[in-house]
Amino acid sequence: MAERVVVVGAGVIGLSCAVRLLEAGHRVDVLARDLPLETTSSIAAAIWYPYLAFPQEKVTAWGATAYDEFARLAEQGADGVQMRRGTELLREPKPDPWWIQAVPTLERVGPREPYADAWSFVTPVIDMPRYLPWLARRIVDLGGTITRMALARLPDAPVVVNCSGLGSRALAGDTSTRPVRGQVVVVEQVGLDTWWLAEEGPGGEVPTYVIPRTLDIVLGGTDEEGDWSRTPSQEVAADIVGRATSLVPEIAGARILRHKVGLRPARPEVRLERAGDVIHCYGHGGAGVTLSWGCADEVVGLAEK
Ligand SMILES: Cc1cc2nc3c(=O)[nH]c(=O)nc-3n(C[C@H](O)[C@H](O)[C@H](O)COP(=O)(O)OP(=O)(O)OC[C@H]3O[C@@H](n4cnc5c(N)ncnc54)[C@H](O)[C@@H]3O)c2cc1C
Repeated sequence: MAERVVVVGAGVIGLSCAVRLLEAGHRVDVLARDLPLETTSSIAAAIWYPYLAFPQEKVTAWGATAYDEFARLAEQGADGVQMRRGTELLREPKPDPWWIQAVPTLERVGPREPYADAWSFVTPVIDMPRYLPWLARRIVDLGGTITRMALARLPDAPVVVNCSGLGSRALAGDTSTRPVRGQVVVVEQVGLDTWWLAEEGPGGEVPTYVIPRTLDIVLGGTDEEGDWSRTPSQEVAADIVGRATSLVPEIAGARILRHKVGLRPARPEVRLERAGDVIHCYGHGGAGVTLSWGCADEVVGLAEK
C-alpha cells in the first residue's frame, strides 16, 4: 500500500529514491541539511563508472540498471545527461573489468605509450549542477517536497529512507562510513568530446581523469581516505592540471573556472536494507551516480514490503 515516506538527504541517492517512490504512488517529503547543489553529489565528475563501491556483484547489478536508465534519459534529453565514448588507459595488460556485464560493449584499443593496455566504451556522463536541479524539479512536479532541515536523529514517519551519505555516521551511528576526499579542477570547454581515464601506476595510485561536459571539463582526481578538509589545495590542483594535461594535451592552457572538493561517503559495502521503519541507502563511495537508479528501484521494493 502507498505510504508517506520521508527521505533524508538531497544528494543523487535521496533525489533518485524520491523520484522512484513518487512514481510508485507514495507521498514523499525530502528533508536535507544541504540542498542538491550543496551536496557531495554536485561535485561528482560524473561518469558512470564503478569506483570505490562494494560488493562487486550488487554494484554490477545496480550499475547496469542505472546505465540503462541514463541512456534512456539521454535519449529523452534530460538536463545534463549525455552518452559519451571514452578510453581507460592501463599500466599493465588486464583482463576485462569485473563490471563488464553492466555495459553493452567494451572494446580493447591496444597500447598507447606509456600505457600497456586500454579499453574504450560509451558511458553516461552527467553534468551534476544541471542534473540535480532536474531531479529536484521532477520531485516537485510529481507532488513531492524538498525542505532544508538539519536532523539530530532520523525522523518518525511510516517509512524513512536514510540517504544521508556521510551523515549516517551520526544518524545511523555507523562509523564504518568514512570520507574519501576528492579534489577536482573545472576548466573551460576547449572542444573536447571524449573522456579519458588513466591509471597512474601499478600499485593502485589514484587515477587521472578528464571528463568533458557541455560547457566545461572536469579534471581529477584524488582520493584521500579519512581526510575531512573541504578546502581545495593549490598544490594538489597544480598536480591535477599537470597530470590531466599530459594525458590530454588539447586542454593545455584551458582557463580554470573552479576548484572543488567533495567527501565521498565510503563504506566497506553499500548499506541497502530495511530495519523496521527505516530503509538505509548510503555508503556509495565513488559511485553514487553510477548506482543511483539501481539502488532507487530496490528502495521502492523495500518500501512496499
Ligand atoms: C571528486 C569526486 C568525483 C566523483 N566522481 C564520481 C563519478 O564520476 N561517478 C560517480 O558515480 N560518483 C562519483 N563521485 C561519488 C559521488 O559523488 C557520491 O557517491 C555521491 O555523491 C553520494 O551521494 P549521496 O546522495 O549518498 O550523498 P551526498 O551527495 O553527500 O548527500 C547526502 C545528503 O544527506 C544530507 N544529510 C547528511 N546528514 C544530514 C542530517 N544530519 N540531517 C539532514 N540531512 C543530512 C546532506 O545534507 C545531503 O543532502 C565522486 C565524488 C567526488 C568527491
